[in-house]
Amino acid sequence: MGRAFVYVIVGGGVAAGYAAHEFVKRGVSHGELCIISEESVAPYERPALSKGYLLPEDPARLPSFHCCVGSNEEKLTPKYYKEHGIELILNTQVKSADVRRNTLQTATGETISYKILIVATGARPLKLEEFGVSGSDAANVCYLRDMVDAERLVNVMQSSSGGNAIVIGGGYIGMECAASLAINKLNVTMVFPEAHCMARLFTTKIASYYEEFYKSRGVKFIKGTVLTSFDFNTDGKVTAVNLRDGSKLPADMVVIGIGIRPNTSLFEGQLTLEKGGIKVNGSMQSSNSSIYAVGDVAAFPVKIFGETRRLEHVDCARKSARHAVAAIMEPEKTGEFDYLPFFYSRVFTLSWQFYGDNIGEVFHFGDFSGKTFGAYWIHNGHLVGSFLEGGTKEQYEAIAHATKLKPAIEDVTELERQGLGFALSMSRKPPPSQPIIVGRSGLVLDTKPIYAWHATAGVIVAASIAAFAYWYGRRRRMW
Ligand SMILES: Cc1cc2nc3c(=O)[nH]c(=O)nc-3n(C[C@H](O)[C@H](O)[C@H](O)COP(=O)(O)OP(=O)(O)OC[C@H]3O[C@@H](n4cnc5c(N)ncnc54)[C@H](O)[C@@H]3O)c2cc1C
Repeated sequence: MGRAFVYVIVGGGVAAGYAAHEFVKRGVSHGELCIISEESVAPYERPALSKGYLLPEDPARLPSFHCCVGSNEEKLTPKYYKEHGIELILNTQVKSADVRRNTLQTATGETISYKILIVATGARPLKLEEFGVSGSDAANVCYLRDMVDAERLVNVMQSSSGGNAIVIGGGYIGMECAASLAINKLNVTMVFPEAHCMARLFTTKIASYYEEFYKSRGVKFIKGTVLTSFDFNTDGKVTAVNLRDGSKLPADMVVIGIGIRPNTSLFEGQLTLEKGGIKVNGSMQSSNSSIYAVGDVAAFPVKIFGETRRLEHVDCARKSARHAVAAIMEPEKTGEFDYLPFFYSRVFTLSWQFYGDNIGEVFHFGDFSGKTFGAYWIHNGHLVGSFLEGGTKEQYEAIAHATKLKPAIEDVTELERQGLGFALSMSRKPPPSQPIIVGRSGLVLDTKPIYAWHATAGVIVAASIAAFAYWYGRRRRMW
């Protein structure tokens, strides 16, 4: 027994939703496309789960955050898939794949065959057991990746009202959950091994701003140590968290955010893997020409860095999915995926964005005792990364634009002096016909002409305007 489709997407998350939207825009015929998802709901904007979904008042609930509302486009409810003849196979896990036969085997025993497969299986949270600590199954220990986790977290949070919440991990999930727990009036303590929060991205200076802000909202930090075990009551609930430094923290609930692992297992030994993900080319095509990979599971050539990377961010999931569909449907018109990495977070009243890469030397700017500040990363004499907290639409657009251009920076003191003004000046000026160099007297132009500059700058401006339209069309962001 089985069904056959021209296009099959395995996984029903962010990338799947945006891929489906792109297929429709490009004229996919009824009955050609199918999405297989182990989740029970149509693709949705996953970032909502740690933001709007956890709010104590007027929380976000489906259908309000189905894809593609995160980019201010139409909301793909189940009706949308039906109307466009897309088969949405929910509650169904794909158990195995045979890439030589172009088939997938589902947990319900069905064989589904494809001409073209898009792998959009995302990632799963790392479990404590993978680090030798048991207790993940306890009723008051929570992870956060999907709707089921989010619903469970809300229930545990409500039944722990006014109690102690311990958040293990100081990355994205830990920081966003800690903020939500504090807003829900729990006593929150964050525990992580690094010297400061968001250690993979933030500098000490940036991290200290957020940590102070969190502290002002009652969140405590225990750094430089890890969870070693739990104490349980007779019901199997966690009552305390034991740390390597010998301390014991009473706990009414625990949230674990210690990283993710891409879901590649269906294809191990069948497709080339790199950086923990499925290796793809600039068309998001894997080592098997009938199979594409997008989103968290894909390791793709990031042109601006000149190397293959795997990114775990929603903007990348959306754009890589759209790009793969374009490459599938109109290969002759679709170039290589040219992506500027973009990460963001919103916690409490704070909101930051980061573009590019955080390598090389870092130069901070702005008012770290106020609301707007940031940093530039300079590598091999070029601006490669920009961070901004508390920016306006125009300011975020400017740092994205400047980072994409990778200008040569000769005088870092001047760059520091100009701060955000540097990025703004680059976006306000008409595109120069020569590369930008920040010299001792501020912005100067090199004498070497680059003839492709006008065209490139035009494309970049268009791309950054489109990117920012994503984030500012709505008054109240829940994701
Ligand atoms: C709580 C939370 C908050 C986040 N906040 C931000 C943020 O603020 N900013 C940001 O940039 N990024 C954020 N992210 C990251 C972002 O959501 C991911 O990068 C994005 O969802 C990746 O999209 P994806 O489609 O690759 O994977 P996912 O959205 O995870 O989708 C994968 C899908 O595949 C399904 N699946 C997996 N294996 C199988 C199988 N064998 N059979 C059937 N189905 C399968 C899964 O059930 C899921 O539906 C957040 C993530 C989480 C969890």
